[in-house]
Amino acid sequence: MTATDTSVKSGSRGDASGSAPNGRAMMQLVERLYPICRSITGDGVRRTLDILGEELDLRVREVPTGTRVLDWEIPREWNIREAHVTGPAGERIVDFRDHNLHVLNYSVPVRRRVARDELVAHLHSLPDQPDVIPYRTSYYREAWGFCIQHRRLEALPRGDYDVVIDTSLEPGALTLAECVVPGRSEREILFSTHICHPSMCNDNLSGIAVQAALFEWLRREQRRYTYRAIFAPGTIGAVTWLSMNRRSLDRIAGGLVLSGLGDPGRLTYKCSRREGARIDRVVERALGDEVNQLPFSPLGYDERQYGSPGFDLPVGRLSRTPYGTYPQYHTSADDLLFISAAQLESALAACQRIVEALEGDTVWYATKPYGEPQLGRYGLYDELAGEIEGTPLREALLWVLNLADGDHGLLDIAARSGCAVAALEHVARRAVAAGLLETEVAGA
Ligand code: ZN
Repeated sequence: MTATDTSVKSGSRGDASGSAPNGRAMMQLVERLYPICRSITGDGVRRTLDILGEELDLRVREVPTGTRVLDWEIPREWNIREAHVTGPAGERIVDFRDHNLHVLNYSVPVRRRVARDELVAHLHSLPDQPDVIPYRTSYYREAWGFCIQHRRLEALPRGDYDVVIDTSLEPGALTLAECVVPGRSEREILFSTHICHPSMCNDNLSGIAVQAALFEWLRREQRRYTYRAIFAPGTIGAVTWLSMNRRSLDRIAGGLVLSGLGDPGRLTYKCSRREGARIDRVVERALGDEVNQLPFSPLGYDERQYGSPGFDLPVGRLSRTPYGTYPQYHTSADDLLFISAAQLESALAACQRIVEALEGDTVWYATKPYGEPQLGRYGLYDELAGEIEGTPLREALLWVLNLADGDHGLLDIAARSGCAVAALEHVARRAVAAGLLETEVAGA
């Protein structure tokens, strides 16, 4: 395990003037990260985290190959030096140096001469999009291959080809990182993004850039909640983090997976598995018509892991155009021109509004949640005989006591009960004083 202390900041971000200064800073980060060949393990992930560590206090973790994590096992570490195919006339057919999507990610090493037909069996292309390179992986099945524009594949002449894939698959580690911004409460809001894709911008350098900028903003002032960012390889990284933290997941009050936030489409919010958890209601209140809402499904990004039935964490997903529904998805066309500073900027602003909505709404916990408390013993029955703004105070008290389950904020209780906010706040203050309610933060 290594720790990186990067508390000294270069301060280049946010200095640009104009309408989208945060967006342009995020684009600059994307441009730096774009050329790196990432995978679920290896030096591409480490270089990516080194760059993020220039701006954020990251705690980097290395989990050794062979470690059991839930139902998975950390695979051998993959690294690549070069890969290319040379044609019958000595011409370079495809070269990793031109684009790192050209290599099947996690290819085993190969150095051999093959006939055209055998080569073609190892080539991946998109006949419907003949000018782009597809993104393909083979993490858990040993294979070698190249990804190529279909137009070039069709033009390959008969003859023999020299194939070189200089990769290593050796015992090593899986690398992931966390950034924690402590709040007044130990209750946490989780943000998570995957960092395993090579040169593609929307999926998912956009998620990395927005999450990094969000945490740079969060650390500027202390807030009610503690905020935790997870930068981890997709699936196996989230599984690893959950495996390492399964005894402390109770502290998570809600969260969001961030991915695909730079494309030209509208924002999309995919509900948590609970569909109606506080995070789902808060996002709806904070973003309103700005966001298309999708129900939960067990397909997608790492919300699948956080929302697996044993954990059932209230973690939704913020994206733009849903993955797989735009032609640039998982191809070389998901490049620097496909995303924009303005879209990154507005995605960051949406995350900030969600944070402010979470922070601005008090959540209570009942100290006696088993049966109604005997209100007369606390002096609450007689004292709360009146009403505020038309809401009988006894009714307001019963609502607050019932929904003081940690998953309902004041505004949720008001919406569900129809009680006036002022009445709910009044009775909640009395119930806190009587010891029947607690908030996340003592004295809040
Ligand atoms: Zn992807």
